Amino acid sequence: MRNPRRFRKSVSLNFFSASLCLCGAILFSAFTIASQVPSPKSVLGFNPTDDKTIADWSQITNYFAQLDKASKNVTVKEIGKTTNGKPLIVAFISSANNIKNLEKYRQISAKLADPRTVKSDAELADLVKNGKTIVSISCSIHSTEIVASQMSMNLAYELATATDADTKEILENTILLLIPSPNPDGIDIVADWYRKTLDTKSEGTAPPELYHHYAGHDNNRDWFMLNLVETQAITKLFWQQWFPQLVYDVHQQGQNASRFIIPPFYDPPNPRVSPSILREVGLIGYKMAADLQAKNIAGVATNSTYDTWWHGGFRSAPYYHNSIGILSEAASVNLMSPITVKKEDLARNRNARGLPNLLEPATNYPDTWEGGLWRPADIANIEMTASRSLLQMAAKFRPRYLRQFYEYGKANLQPTPDEPQAFIISAGQPNAESVSRLIEILMWQGIEVHQLTRELYVTMPEMKDVHETPLGGYLIFVNQPQKNNILSLFEKQVYPHRLLPNGDAEAPYDVAGWTLPLQMGVEYETVLSIRNFEKDRPSLKRVEFQNQVRSSLGLDQSGTPFGKIRQVKARPRIGLYKGYTSSIDEGWTRLVLDTFMIAFVSVTDAAVRSGELPFDAIILPADGENTIVKGLSAERYPAEFSGGIGENGVENLKKYVANGGKLICFDDSCEMVIKRFGLPIKNVLAGLKRSEFYNPGSIVALDVDTSDPIAKGLRKDTAAYFSSSSAFEIAADAKVNVVARYASKNALLSGWMLGEKYLNGKPALVETNYGKGKIVLFAFRPQHRGQSWGTFPFIFNSLER
Ligand SMILES: [Zn+2]
Repeated sequence: MRNPRRFRKSVSLNFFSASLCLCGAILFSAFTIASQVPSPKSVLGFNPTDDKTIADWSQITNYFAQLDKASKNVTVKEIGKTTNGKPLIVAFISSANNIKNLEKYRQISAKLADPRTVKSDAELADLVKNGKTIVSISCSIHSTEIVASQMSMNLAYELATATDADTKEILENTILLLIPSPNPDGIDIVADWYRKTLDTKSEGTAPPELYHHYAGHDNNRDWFMLNLVETQAITKLFWQQWFPQLVYDVHQQGQNASRFIIPPFYDPPNPRVSPSILREVGLIGYKMAADLQAKNIAGVATNSTYDTWWHGGFRSAPYYHNSIGILSEAASVNLMSPITVKKEDLARNRNARGLPNLLEPATNYPDTWEGGLWRPADIANIEMTASRSLLQMAAKFRPRYLRQFYEYGKANLQPTPDEPQAFIISAGQPNAESVSRLIEILMWQGIEVHQLTRELYVTMPEMKDVHETPLGGYLIFVNQPQKNNILSLFEKQVYPHRLLPNGDAEAPYDVAGWTLPLQMGVEYETVLSIRNFEKDRPSLKRVEFQNQVRSSLGLDQSGTPFGKIRQVKARPRIGLYKGYTSSIDEGWTRLVLDTFMIAFVSVTDAAVRSGELPFDAIILPADGENTIVKGLSAERYPAEFSGGIGENGVENLKKYVANGGKLICFDDSCEMVIKRFGLPIKNVLAGLKRSEFYNPGSIVALDVDTSDPIAKGLRKDTAAYFSSSSAFEIAADAKVNVVARYASKNALLSGWMLGEKYLNGKPALVETNYGKGKIVLFAFRPQHRGQSWGTFPFIFNSLER
């Protein structure tokens, strides 16, 4: 069956729909001449991963469409459209017989993912015996880490044509969901830029725009929030349909790092990731490492740099779905141009966690790489080897992976005395859109939500007696197959206090805290135990459709899921500064404005330099002074993209505000404005050592002046996102309006913060006059990764006045 139910049309149908009959004829003949499966070179005209070649998205999808037509081992499906409207594809690769029966194997995987659907040991034995290991390999989510997307064609071709026993075993026992790129828009942005700049001073540089329309590099920080259509489509593929047991996300790191980093990962582990999963992650990493060493590939590191603390990455979200997530990071070249790495540059790289000296052998890095020529094909060779290691494991230990996947889910169904039993999102909260979106996010990733259609008797922390729940709210039972996902999203993170020998805080790989309802400003309660749990649970109504949530919250029915939210108020003319430095914070700001349908204009460097600023308000996203004022270097970029707003632009911004405009600054951009505008404000955290103050990404408590118009609709104790952000001090006698301060004690709500005393009680959101205009300074991130819905109203209110 080439088009099982529940899927959209396959790509071959999509691309060749004008000649359906012909397409069928080609397909039929292909069965008889399997040896004529086209090589990537025969279709593209070059070998993918050769120096200075690049295949764009239409070439990649065309190659996969040809494979789909010619090979019984490959079928390609379109799973949605990207932000820019391109097809998002997945190539299913397996034996011809498995490909014919994809729906049957999908159903087996789905049953194993939810042990409640397996009725007996005999049925389980049958599922394990007949199922296939579902594996996903995803390439180049970060589009400048381009090599894997090119390599994906070679990997698919090799699996579709090789006849050795090893490949046959892989095809027989596994179904590979190969994602040539989960960010096709970025493949084209990079390919266009690379071709345009080949043999110029800009060859091999990053494009002067975000490689994902809204998120850039943060497209791999979206895997629990699901802001992006690409994340939504793949989350549906994985956690509503296929439930892969193994997920491999292929990345690249810096040029002067180790040649390749694979698991086991570095510390700290997240306590909500099953220890067994951590061991399985390590086992696959060591298999990859051993296979690479057998090929005498030097410079491979394990136990370094990347940890398993944070949630929300392509390979970390699977841990919370009982799957084994693997990340690899190959040292980069200049996009597709080869480089020569100097030994002294490797010697200088002493900051990697777990790998302080790249020229000294260590147990986690036994074969040093000493520098030399480094080419795209070197990266591809390593990634192909690692992919095969993963597939071999998936094939050889098929029954083990399937049974284990079931067992993880089953263990999660059992209540544990020291864990909450449920979380309740109460009805009647003022921010119904946030409540609705939170429930939508939970349901989309497969978490079951129940409606409180009858009262329950529960115990809660700090409440001695049994408590009766109000009707109408939502209840999320912890004991679902995805228990750890629910706990990780609702609990407050407590990052371990990790210091370097010199007393400085050791930086985690990503953020330390993310508690979703806190970020979204949604009130919830933790339920420790439920009386009559077994009897009451079946009587509650499971929420089936998002529109059911919206109607019960009194919201309109349009635009779901993940729809736009109409803001009815008239807005002034809004400008959002957009330089050429690919500001991720600018992208997330655009996402928030677009989501809430607030019209704005992107303000370019040229516009700021010219002084043509016909706006009532201009937002400066969280970028530093150099990024905004100096921009991209003229040494590497053409004049149209380099130079930032320049000194002239700074003066024009001053004139704009002095003449009555409003400037709204997020986090890092405050520094430039405070300094260049000579404001009577300073950042008290600037200059503190990492042994004194540190907060790499945590949720903190604000004390809000709710009488201030900028705070309209916000609670006095609002939670805000702090990411190496600022805290203000205002000069004595200066007339500055403080809208919110950091809490005077217990400011840390979720994550990690060293030296809290430095920010306790300090202004976090202020407004000041400048000439006839106003400046609003956010010390924190009011729209962090599009997640912090709880503080979006500060932005909307600032724009309104
Ligand atoms: Zn990456």
